[in-house]
Amino acid sequence: APTFDVDSLRRDFPLLDERVNGHQLIWFDNAATTQKPRQVIDRLTHFYRHENSNIHRAAHELAARATDAYENARAAVARFLGAPAPEQIIFVRGATEGLNLIAQTWGRRHIREGDEILISHLEHHANIVPWQLLIAETGATLRVIPVDDTGQVRMDEFSRLLTEKTKIVAVSHVSNALGTVTPVEDIVAAAKRAGALTVVDGAQSAPHIGIDLAALAPDFFVFSGHKIYGPTGIGAVYGAADILRELPPWQGGGNMIAEVTMDHTTFQPPPARFEAGTGNIAGAVGLGAAIDYVSGIGIENIAAYEHFLLEYATAALREVPGLRLIGTAADKASVLSFVLDGYRPEQVGRALNEQGIAVRAGHHCAQPILRRFGLDATVRPSLAFYNTCAEVDRLVATLRTLR
Ligand code: PMP
Repeated sequence: APTFDVDSLRRDFPLLDERVNGHQLIWFDNAATTQKPRQVIDRLTHFYRHENSNIHRAAHELAARATDAYENARAAVARFLGAPAPEQIIFVRGATEGLNLIAQTWGRRHIREGDEILISHLEHHANIVPWQLLIAETGATLRVIPVDDTGQVRMDEFSRLLTEKTKIVAVSHVSNALGTVTPVEDIVAAAKRAGALTVVDGAQSAPHIGIDLAALAPDFFVFSGHKIYGPTGIGAVYGAADILRELPPWQGGGNMIAEVTMDHTTFQPPPARFEAGTGNIAGAVGLGAAIDYVSGIGIENIAAYEHFLLEYATAALREVPGLRLIGTAADKASVLSFVLDGYRPEQVGRALNEQGIAVRAGHHCAQPILRRFGLDATVRPSLAFYNTCAEVDRLVATLRTLR
């Protein structure tokens, strides 16, 4: 049972009142994006009504307000992730842009022919394709940690694949396709001992389980605001201080420079060096409000309730005849993935939609891991703290009528 009042928190989310096809909406597509509480919506409105200005550049009242709001959001992100300092947080569009930033700055500077980049079979395309692009430029090689039949990474294979050739180890903390929580602490520790750069894709972990970057101490960690009840188009990269200090710029332009002449330009220290141009200022402020909202509930409380809900849903889905769960690792968060005998995932998705139940049916931008299980699509309900057992019951009842 939750340590917070789910019904009263639900009232913070206007969209949860929506009716779809004559039914009260059930939002089980949280791994794709989460709904926004009015605290976030109101914060965006407040910004545009009372604080809107470009930041850092102009010496007037609104520039100061906008800059304060933006930098407070950066501090909120740092606190939430347990990052030692706000300067280690770079605002980007989201996890995808964050991973591309890492590949194109650190990667381009350090990766050479013969080097190896190690990822897992679970990765989202956002943690595959940027490395493939880097490899095409450099002649490095991509290596893949296989998973077992439960969808957990094989640590014996990881140990075998981690060699002196390994220059980058980039893994997701929670799989968006299966919900597997990977042993990221062990992976980061071993990779660092081997001298590799460590990159953690936290897009699905930051919203659902507590993160302590001071303890985990990866070189990079990325996440997306819209999956943690914040706006779209904003996310963050955390970088280790010594790595960020020597990291070359990525995009060039305003904001990121110290001095420009026609012959020579010097750059700002991090994080400004990596935030060229006018960024998503309002989005960052909205993300700060989302983090404050989540912190108000307590990420540990959220994790505990969602774990309870996931176990409840797993047990109920197991009882549906012909339903096969994909991804049965002992340690999971938020995501359920399944196929149903006699139905294509898209058909199941459509039938659920007719009842006002939103799930994702498809490849979830993680085609390699679905192929590993002989599939090209699954049905994927994914849970958040505003979901309830009653909603799970409605999902299961609808699936049973299909049978
Ligand atoms: N990694 C994982 C594990 C994800 O689930 C997602 C989003 N589905 C991403 C990366 C990419 O996030 P975004 O599309 O917000 O950049």
